[in-house]
Amino acid sequence: MKIAVIDADLLGRRRHRFPNLVCEKISGYYKQVVKLPPENVVLKTDYEHLEEFDRVFIAKVFTDTPVPEWLQHVSQPKELLIRVGRPDAGALPVEKWLEKTVGYKINGKIPVNVGGTGFFFDRAPNLPDVIEHCMPDYHLYDNWIEEKVEQAKKKAECEGREFHRSRFLVQFKEYLEYSIGYLTRGCFRHCGFCVNQKYNRVFRHSHLTEFLDRDRKKICLLDDNFFGYLDWRPLLGELVATRKRFKFKQGMDERLLTPDIAKALFTSNYDGDFTFAFDNISDYDLIHEKLEIMKPYKKGRSVKFYVLVGFASTDWKDIRDTFRRIELLMQYHCLPYIMRYQNKNEAPWKASPLHAMYVAIARWCNQPNIFKKMSFREFCKANQAMKKTPGYCSAMQAMKDFEMRHPTLAEEFFDMKYSDYSD
Ligand code: SF4
Repeated sequence: MKIAVIDADLLGRRRHRFPNLVCEKISGYYKQVVKLPPENVVLKTDYEHLEEFDRVFIAKVFTDTPVPEWLQHVSQPKELLIRVGRPDAGALPVEKWLEKTVGYKINGKIPVNVGGTGFFFDRAPNLPDVIEHCMPDYHLYDNWIEEKVEQAKKKAECEGREFHRSRFLVQFKEYLEYSIGYLTRGCFRHCGFCVNQKYNRVFRHSHLTEFLDRDRKKICLLDDNFFGYLDWRPLLGELVATRKRFKFKQGMDERLLTPDIAKALFTSNYDGDFTFAFDNISDYDLIHEKLEIMKPYKKGRSVKFYVLVGFASTDWKDIRDTFRRIELLMQYHCLPYIMRYQNKNEAPWKASPLHAMYVAIARWCNQPNIFKKMSFREFCKANQAMKKTPGYCSAMQAMKDFEMRHPTLAEEFFDMKYSDYSD
């Protein structure tokens, strides 16, 4: 039997660099449980010649990742689509699951199983337990990475440049250095913009040993809301006991921060920036209170906040609320990372008359080296200085237009600077 595994985001998003855990688990299942020879489980990096396989799996995380026409209208039986509050729904015996999740048949006979939020958003069927709790195949992407290395090496040779393998491999660090998985799953908040709508609580999902590869240096947790799990302490203890650096991929829920959590987190062997979320201006006072709690523990560590914009509205009020959140974060020497809201059908900020303002703010904030040095006005001026043709650059134009209509807001926010605040 030959199995093809396709990570649709890898094929459809040129700069995508994060392994698809479902693909790694499916590969792990066929190699470790079904015991297929490793060469019979292939990461396909195109949609060609799929008829040469006995079964094809396609997983997709992002709704806007392009896929071939024949994959655009796949569906799943109603009973498999998860309903809110049913954590066990979809956990079928593997044979049944394989039969039911077929979304397409190549030449009318070769089954293609499709899955993931990219296809079914918040109703994506779960994997059957036997696959879900399988050790991921962390080597699924090895050949693809080697191909990329060879291509880059050849390109460097042609251009007469030196090729640094280790430097080039940094972009693949999540594929090569991390054990990846969930200790808990679920979230009780049901934020309107979030794909995580299936559950009403945070629950224990798997033991660390299920996905921990002792040979890998680090651990990446995909938990939706780790500190929303009441018994988080022993889990954090297990992570610390591995002596490996670990990180949470999703923004942590700052609203749940207590001195206890802050102490445990900031004294742990955390990997890189601590990342939280500040999605809603209505949480302003609460986040302010939590930033005060965090302050004595932060001690110069890098803390980043995802700042969701363009969800509540895409007018001047949303821009004002964005700057208000940026200002608060700045005061506590935290970095904002602007996330422009989009769902599977639309990106409302793109249709807004203020879309250039959204782009300018995101470009200013999402480049920490720039954000740490320049105010928004200075950033727009720096862009203007690089423009070689007459007229204003888009950032400067957006800033000027906004300032003309909302001079008080411009005065309040356009000149504030990260470097004016101390940690
Ligand atoms: S708190 Fe986070 S994980 Fe939970 S629903 Fe909101 S955005 Fe999603």
